Amino acid sequence: MSKSSVEAFQVMKNVAQHPDDYLTQWKNRHQQPVIGIFPMNFPVEIIAATGALPVIIQDSREPISEGNTILAEFYCGFTRSIADQTMKGQLDIFDAFMNADHCIQLLGAVDVVREMLSDKPVYFEHLIAAMDDSWTKDQVQTKIHAFIAEAERVTGTTISDEALTRCIESNNKNRQLLRQVFEARRNGDAQFSPGELQTMIVSSMIMDKDEHTALLETVLAEASTKPRDNRVRLHLSGHFCHAPRVELFDLLEECGAVIVDDDLYTGSRYISTDVKESLAPRAALADWYFARNENIPCPTRVQKTVNWDEYLINALENSGAEGVIVLMAKFCEAHMFYYPELRKALEANNIPHLLIETEHEGMPEETFRTRVEAMIERIRRKSSSRTTAKELAQ
Ligand code: SF4
Repeated sequence: MSKSSVEAFQVMKNVAQHPDDYLTQWKNRHQQPVIGIFPMNFPVEIIAATGALPVIIQDSREPISEGNTILAEFYCGFTRSIADQTMKGQLDIFDAFMNADHCIQLLGAVDVVREMLSDKPVYFEHLIAAMDDSWTKDQVQTKIHAFIAEAERVTGTTISDEALTRCIESNNKNRQLLRQVFEARRNGDAQFSPGELQTMIVSSMIMDKDEHTALLETVLAEASTKPRDNRVRLHLSGHFCHAPRVELFDLLEECGAVIVDDDLYTGSRYISTDVKESLAPRAALADWYFARNENIPCPTRVQKTVNWDEYLINALENSGAEGVIVLMAKFCEAHMFYYPELRKALEANNIPHLLIETEHEGMPEETFRTRVEAMIERIRRKSSSRTTAKELAQ
């Protein structure tokens, strides 16, 4: 990679690791508010159309201390990290918070923010989870109008259709570029590691989209295809709201696996769906909510015609993945409730899979390593032509 490409990637990495530095600089440059968005369903285009910066709030790597005094241990690590960051003043940089609900635990975290940062607007609205009812579409459209009204109230800026259209186009362009990279990986390109792909996604969740797109274009202009070797091909599934630890990706690759696809939120799920530019912008944002669940089904939504397990089996056929690692954030109820369906479908289709439960603190690395190695060995025995991690290192 050229110097400019390396530097562009480094900017994304710095933003992903230290969002506050970027947010402080952005605020100084633009003199506009920075609005914290909770994952996973809020249409960020609405905030961007006011001139403010929508930022999807990230899990912090810092050990949770004060957050444990306000949210019980059986909340997922992401929500306890939100509480922790709130108590430590680390979310003070945000001027307001917006959330389109998707799970009970997240509501608890949002309540902590509302209570502790009582001088800041905290907006919460249910985006209905039952997708099939006759009144659902009207309800979602009403909520989109409510989001827009609230964004206008918080920022003092009226949102025009032109501004919304511009932001939809800019977000679509960013998603399309990122999708190209993920599609290339699915088709056999191993140039970017799973950690690098995660850096691209997390920085996109934080940065101004046009700035991020410019960095991506610089990186991708230099990208050349690197055919993947014939290590065991795996799909990573699950892990909503926050990014899995990069050390986990490294461990999987050290064990002799290559990640070829995923449905992680900080992965394919985030970029799966564009907002239709052929529709009027306000209608298009409502349509996007439904289309996302059809492209990559989410267990926090209920829709008779779409199933995460069916999606997963098809995804494996498309990418050629030979097994699935299910990454489940501990105490993520939505995922825990759905997992038996996933497991049944994978077993019925004779697809090797492994459930790894992740925690905010600590990673029992050697336990994971033993289990992953055992799974990879099972897959490898089916085909003797596999390259082992040891051979690759030689
Ligand atoms: S969906 Fe899961 S990971 Fe996300 S906030 Fe809810 S419990 Fe936590």
